[in-house]
Amino acid sequence: MATPLYSSKLSGSKSKNWIKAGLAVLFTKEGIEPFVYDEIKQFQQKCLKDISNNNGIPAGSTCFSCCTENVIVCPTNKICNGGRGKCKFHRNAATQYLPFGCPNKICNNFKNEIQNAHRFHCPSFKNTDATQWCTNPWEVAKCFMPPDGYKDVTSAAETDFNGIISVIINYKAFQSKVQDDLSKTCSIFAQGREIGKAVRHSPQLEVEDTDLQQYFTDLLNLLSDPAYLSTNTDAKNAKTKLLQCLVK
Ligand SMILES: [Zn+2]
Ligand SMILES: [Zn+2]
Repeated sequence: MATPLYSSKLSGSKSKNWIKAGLAVLFTKEGIEPFVYDEIKQFQQKCLKDISNNNGIPAGSTCFSCCTENVIVCPTNKICNGGRGKCKFHRNAATQYLPFGCPNKICNNFKNEIQNAHRFHCPSFKNTDATQWCTNPWEVAKCFMPPDGYKDVTSAAETDFNGIISVIINYKAFQSKVQDDLSKTCSIFAQGREIGKAVRHSPQLEVEDTDLQQYFTDLLNLLSDPAYLSTNTDAKNAKTKLLQCLVK
C-alpha cells in the first residue's frame, strides 16, 4: 500500500512538537480545573450568604425564576444595544425590564456581586444562565470567561484552557491564591493563555523546538506557583505528565 501523503507531515518533528504542546496545554488545564472550580464554588456560596445577610432573607434561600435577560438591564454595553425593542438579547419584551428586581431579592444582587468581583467589571453575561447561579457554580464561573463560545458549556471538563485560565485572571479574588501578580499583562497565567492561543492558531500545525521548550518552562512555572498550586495534588500530577511528555 502506498504511503499516505500526510504521513511525512505527521512524522515531522515540528508537527510532533505541536501535538506535544497541545497535550501540555491539556494537562495544564486538567491540573488547574479543580482549583478553579473550588474557588468559584466558594465565591458562589459567599455571594448567597452575603445576599441573605444584607437583605434579611433566610439563609439557604435560592431563586430559579430569573433568567439572564431579567437581571441584565436593556441596553447594557457589550451585551445588547437595545435599539427600541430590536434587541436580540432581550428577545422577549416581557423580560426587557424588571423594575422590581428579582422577586426573591437574590438574582439582581448576585449580578452585582459578580460585577464587583470581576477585574474589569465586565462579566460575560451573554455566556451564562442566571437561573442556575444558585445551584451550579460553573454558570457563575462562565461570567469570568471570554464573552463568546461558552454558552453551552456546563462543567470545568467541558471548558477549554482559555476559558479556565480567564476565570483565574478575571476573578479578582484569585489573587489571594496566586503569588504572581495577576494584574500584570505578563503574569504566568497571561503567558499560559498566550501559549494556548499560539498552539490553537498555529497555521501549519507546527511548533519550533525552542518555542516548545519555552512553553513547557512557562506551563511548569504556572503549575508551580508557590501560593497554592505548588502543593496541590492535581497540579503536581499535571507536572508529572508534562515532564514525561517532554522527555519523549
Ligand atoms: Zn437588550
Ligand atoms: Zn431571581
